[in-house]
Formats: sequence, structure tokens, C-alpha cells
Amino acid sequence: MAMSNAENALAGIRVVVETSASGRSQSWTRALEAAAVWLRPRLPWVHAVMFVLFLVLLVGPFLLPDPEQASWLAGLANQVIWGLWFPLVLLSVLISGRSWCGLVCPMGAASQWMNAIGRKRPVPGWLRWEGTPIVSFVLVTVLGQTVGVRDYPGALLEVFGGTLVAALLIGFLYGRGRDKRAWCRHACPIGLLLGVLSRLGMAELVPKRPRAGGDAYTERGMCPTMIDINRKTESRHCIMCMRCVHPERGGGLALRLRPPGEEVAQIQHHHPAASELWFLLLGTGVALGGFLWLALPQYQWLRQTIGAWAIDQGLYWIGQPGPAWLMSEHPEAREVFVWLDFFMIVGWMLGVMLALTLALSLLNALGAALAGRLGASGDLRGRFVALGYQFAPMAMVSLLLGLGGGLFSALPAHWAMDIKLSLLAAALLWGLTLARRILAGFSLQGLPAAVALVPGIIGSMAVGWIWWPALAVA
Ligand code: SF4
Ligand code: SF4
Repeated sequence: MAMSNAENALAGIRVVVETSASGRSQSWTRALEAAAVWLRPRLPWVHAVMFVLFLVLLVGPFLLPDPEQASWLAGLANQVIWGLWFPLVLLSVLISGRSWCGLVCPMGAASQWMNAIGRKRPVPGWLRWEGTPIVSFVLVTVLGQTVGVRDYPGALLEVFGGTLVAALLIGFLYGRGRDKRAWCRHACPIGLLLGVLSRLGMAELVPKRPRAGGDAYTERGMCPTMIDINRKTESRHCIMCMRCVHPERGGGLALRLRPPGEEVAQIQHHHPAASELWFLLLGTGVALGGFLWLALPQYQWLRQTIGAWAIDQGLYWIGQPGPAWLMSEHPEAREVFVWLDFFMIVGWMLGVMLALTLALSLLNALGAALAGRLGASGDLRGRFVALGYQFAPMAMVSLLLGLGGGLFSALPAHWAMDIKLSLLAAALLWGLTLARRILAGFSLQGLPAAVALVPGIIGSMAVGWIWWPALAVA
């Protein structure tokens, strides 16, 4: 059917608007690329300043002779790390991908410096295993709770200092070629988190001369995180170091701005990974577990019951304090954990993590199976992994509430609660929108897609509901 004059005019206006919008976007990306090229030789200075600041915040409170000044600096360090650094880094991923990692992070830079002078051995299989950063994240989160990383400067030093030592060691030993970051690609507990969330972000780097074959790993190229840059289709390992960006050349990568969530909505074309799905579920569960033990009376009941049973069995050591590097011992703050507390907190966090992961993965499997029954393309495993990314916004908000609590504690209580509830509602809606678009990628739309979405909606609402008692604590 021929278009009417009005339709022709509208189509013309749309083309003009789209062309000018894409022109504006291109001039923006060009300007940003030029800024990156200008910044690149200056980055070592940025890293050096950040490294000194990092050390001052971590070690400073123990070097100051005046207890009042030491306590002031410890409070500042706590506020900077939990109130500013963690929430802002999480939010920055939505705008500029893992730019924190590539441009600012002192730990990643230090690992890279060590690689430059180190042994440069090939990255071993155990380190390349996709579960390594998940284990690292869970270990650090659980240890953080038992030593009180959000409350005590000694615990902050232990957790961040220990992580820094591991980053230096892995950087020194592994990664062939020039300035590699095996730590950032394979082991950093924050790196995996930022990697998954960078898929939701508005910035990506795309090859100017893409090669077919999908994403590939190479220790021989110029990329510090071992990406074969011309085959890059996913954001998660790219730390936005801009080493591969050369606006004046025909090759390398170019900056592209995109709507938030686009990569997740089209995840089938961006190398979905089952390890990321497990991380989303386990990470959400462990963050929740870390707060529910503080908030639920059932935890106290369980602790009493198990403690009484252990004493009846003659296990008196369970009431003794353990080593201070493993559990909080702060009599001045009226907090001294004994072995019972240690085992209870660890068991509780891991229990909540596993229970939530089991429940969400069953619901996700049900959604993927229903989608198949109702006509979606692809196999069950592919749909299961892809659909699991619907939980990414909820995981992000869970970790923001859980580990970025310092941001909220600086706000008036009623504001903080309203913001937390709004974040949970926004995560639920965003996850639902993403799930709908993911199913559309499997050729399922309309009523059948709505039916297949139900298990995922129940899962996301359940996470929000479980957060409820912990919101006042987080
Ligand atoms: S992966 Fe970890 S250590 Fe590496 S730059 Fe990112 S936050 Fe820093
Ligand atoms: S793809 Fe480019 S910007 Fe991304 S980490 Fe590798 S070299 Fe850096």
C-alpha cells in the first residue's frame, strides 16, 4: 500500500532526527576517544596517586600516634570505601563500563606493574577456571562479615591488604606479553561483579574490523585482560583501559554508546556464560545472607539452640574466641565473636546463598522450559543461561544495598528507606523488561512470552521480599 503524504513527511522527519542523533552520538564518541588518547600516557600518574591514597586510608590509622587522629582517619576511610567508592563504582559501570578498572583502580594497576617485572608464566588452568572469581568473591564477602570489615580498620586492612597482596603475587607470576592483568581477568572478586554489570552499561568498545568466530582468549595480544580484540562481542572482560583505541587509524576498537541494558537484552549475540549466571545468583544470596543474620530473630534462636546442644555434648571450645584474623575481637566495641558465632555466620551466609541459588535457578529453569513448550527457539540450556541475566539488575541492587550501606547511612532514615524501596522496584521492572526482550530474541512474544515470564517475576519479587527485614540494617 502506498504511503500517504503525512506518513511520508513523518518518515522523513524520523530519518532526519535519527541521522542527527547518530551524528551527535558520533561526535561525542570521537571527543571521548580523543580524551582517552590524551589521558593514556598520564595514567601512570593517576594510578600512582590512587595507590598512595589507598595506602594512606588502609595503613594510615595504624601509623598515627595520636589515637584521636587515628580514629578520625579510620572513620574517613570507612566512609570513603563503603559510602563513596563501592556505590559510585557500581553506578559508574552503568555509564562508562569498567572504566574504574582501566583508568583508576590502584590494585589493578599494581598487579600490572608487577607483571611488567615478573615471571610472565602462562596463566595456569586453575586460574583460568571461570569459577575462580566466584570462589574469591564468596570467600572475601564471608570473611568480611566475620571480621567486621565494615566496622573496624584492622579488618579493612586485612581484607583489602590481603587482596592487594594476592593481586601483586598473581601479577608477578602470571601473564605473558606486555603488562597483562591475569588478576583482573581471572581472580579479582570485584572484577567479575563489574564485568557482569558492564553488560548493562551504556558504553562499549567494538572492533572497527570485526573478525568472525566469536570471543576468544589470547595472551599474545596487546589487551591486558587477554581479549582477542577483533573478535570481541562482549563487555565483561574489557576494563576500558583504552589501549586499543586509536581514532586516527582504521583498526583497533571504537567507542560506541548504546541504550542501558542493550547487551543483556540481546545476550545470545554477546557470548552468554553460565558462570555469570551462577555468580548473579550466588552473589545475591551471599549478600542477603550477610544481612539476614543481623536482622532475623530466627538466627538468634538457631544460635542458642546449636550452642546449647554443643555444650551438652561437651564441646566447650565453641564458646572460646578464635584468632582475630578470622573473627571479630573488639571488646572495646563490645563485640567478641567465639567459634560458635564464626560457624553460625559462615553457615548461615552459605546456607542462604545456596537456598536462594537453588530456588532462583529452579524458577529460571521453569521459565526456560515453559518458553520452549510455548514455541521459543533454541535449546533449554541456552534459554536457561540467557534468561538468567534477567536477575542482573536485582543482583546489582542487592550488592549496592548490602555492601554499599555507608551511602545510605549518611542519609536521613526515611529518605534512605524510600530510596532502597525505589531501587528494588526499579530493579524488578528492569529485570522484567530485559526478560521480555531476551525471550523476543528466542522468537517468543505476546501472551506465550508473558506466561514464560511468570517464574522469573516470582523469583525477583521473592528477592525483594526477602530483603525486606534486612533493609533497616543494610
Ligand atoms: S578487576 Fe579488580 S583489581 Fe582489577 S582493576 Fe578491576 S577492581 Fe581493580
Ligand atoms: S579491549 Fe581494549 S580497552 Fe578493553 S581491556 Fe582490552 S585493550 Fe583495554
